[in-house]
Amino acid sequence: MGVKIDKAFYIKTKKIISNFEADKQGLTGEKFSCPICNATLSFTKHFEKNYPNKVVKVSPFFSLIPKVVHNEDCKYNTAGRVKKIMKKAIELKDFIEMDPSKKPIIRLQVVTEELESKENPKDDVPNENDAHEMEVENDGSLSPYLSAMKQIMILRSEVENNNVLKSEIKLKYKKKMVSWDNFYFGQKEVEYIKLTKYLDKKSIPKHPVCIEGYITKPLEYVKFPNKSEFHKVFIEMPYINGLDDEGKKEIPSVSFLIPIEMEHIKRKIESEMQKGNNQIVAYGKPYFKKNTGRQPLTEYHNVTLYINKKAQFHCFNDTM
Ligand SMILES: [Zn+2]
Repeated sequence: MGVKIDKAFYIKTKKIISNFEADKQGLTGEKFSCPICNATLSFTKHFEKNYPNKVVKVSPFFSLIPKVVHNEDCKYNTAGRVKKIMKKAIELKDFIEMDPSKKPIIRLQVVTEELESKENPKDDVPNENDAHEMEVENDGSLSPYLSAMKQIMILRSEVENNNVLKSEIKLKYKKKMVSWDNFYFGQKEVEYIKLTKYLDKKSIPKHPVCIEGYITKPLEYVKFPNKSEFHKVFIEMPYINGLDDEGKKEIPSVSFLIPIEMEHIKRKIESEMQKGNNQIVAYGKPYFKKNTGRQPLTEYHNVTLYINKKAQFHCFNDTM
């Protein structure tokens, strides 16, 4: 558990080994330790994810064995990363409150409000740096709420699942607590199904959600019947084999829409794609709509997020 790590100390050879080398040698089950703090690590070999039109190989990685944690000052320590992010955010009293055990609770309604305010594309600061704090710090005049949200989203994308952050940060929308499992949805088909089931309820939640996905093709211009215009980011649909109880095939379909005037956001995603970063995670208020496909018995469960601000997305690549 914890953050995925790409190199480790191999106890048998007493040498540092990369994730790809360990994969080549088939070292599943061998003993490794953190190159910085010596915490015991295990190795997960590469695995495959199936999509309707392709199979994607996810990179192998090292991660903590159960019940072990990195040293407090190790850069792979998740609690340490959370503390660092929160150090700045904690000043924002309307954004963060503390629970009785002194763990931060994020008030998601502040994020929703902030997303509705306009971003001036002229405020854009060109950014050639990748990921992490560097990326966020260089995003120029980002709202402090949204940049903290972005850093938390990036950290979550680097750990294996929601459980890692559950004990570090809590989420709340107005008076109600929001579970991480109803907030962050990864790329696996089960998570997309969970997402559409959650949004298909009578009242779609008002809090923002984070969704990860693979970008399948170049961005395209789209115009809707109401004349609104967007750049559309196409996200790979999961491969759904089975039918539901009524004999229907329900296919989650996620897309991100960028308002046409937000040309700088489109360019940023395109430049990330050129660097091979074809995976994206974005947060925003979700919109949900069901469509029946041309093929009988197929129902598309469409989820749309609007990206108005650079703080809302992060591109990355964890595939081989
Ligand atoms: Zn460590």
